[in-house]
Amino acid sequence: THFGYQEVPVTEKASRVADVFHSVASRYDVMNDLMSFGIHRVWKRLTIERAGVRPGHNVLDIAGGTGDLTFRFSRLVGPRGRVVLADINESMLRVGRDKLIDRGVGGNVEYVQANAETLPFPDNSFDCITIAFGLRNVTDQNAALRSMTRVLKPGGRLLVLEFSKPRSALLNRAYDEYSFRLLPRMGECVAGDADSYRYLAESIRMHPDQETLKGMMETAGLERVEYTNLTGGIVALHRGIKL
Ligand code: SAM
Repeated sequence: THFGYQEVPVTEKASRVADVFHSVASRYDVMNDLMSFGIHRVWKRLTIERAGVRPGHNVLDIAGGTGDLTFRFSRLVGPRGRVVLADINESMLRVGRDKLIDRGVGGNVEYVQANAETLPFPDNSFDCITIAFGLRNVTDQNAALRSMTRVLKPGGRLLVLEFSKPRSALLNRAYDEYSFRLLPRMGECVAGDADSYRYLAESIRMHPDQETLKGMMETAGLERVEYTNLTGGIVALHRGIKL
């Protein structure tokens, strides 16, 4: 392949995740806008603000998919900086690369097929790492957090943008209705694929809540870990620093 293919051990979850993203890759951006009513753009904008990326920085956008964050980082780091868009899934990476090239992104972006659990980069490589809506798809999340911490430079930041636990019971009920009834139907209508969206809803429910993820990041060796709830806790943005 074009991306330096890396063998990854295929567990049941990993192959499930691979099937889902191979099948949604070409419609991924449209579905994102539809399913989140466009709000994912706001969540991503906040992630960029908290990343503190400056000209000359080295940034890794792991599980970067179709490259929304990479696009903005490539402007921020400038010609002397570098952004690596990495994803385990070749289809997602190809859609991302084509989109970024269409949007005029040039020489400061690299595309790498990689598993977040076993990142193929030297220790202390990056000023900032983002993983947006990616961690819950990873089989061994603690291994991924350790691997990301390893490749961060001292002083570097990890930002995890992920679905989390809604703060109020009412919002939780409405959100369940939405996820388990409406979402699979939208998936069926728009993508002819209810199963992928059923997987999405299930994977969100199984993901660790705000405090649990904070603890996992600390265990992985990050410090000053804090989080912000977005949209009532439907999503949370966690940030930790490698000291
Ligand atoms: N970050 C993008 C965004 O916010 O729009 C894409 C998010 S998409 C929901 C999740 C991505 O995680 C998919 O592209 C999938 O291939 C990738 N992924 C799943 N498991 C992974 C792993 N172990 N390592 C790296 N990427 C992974």
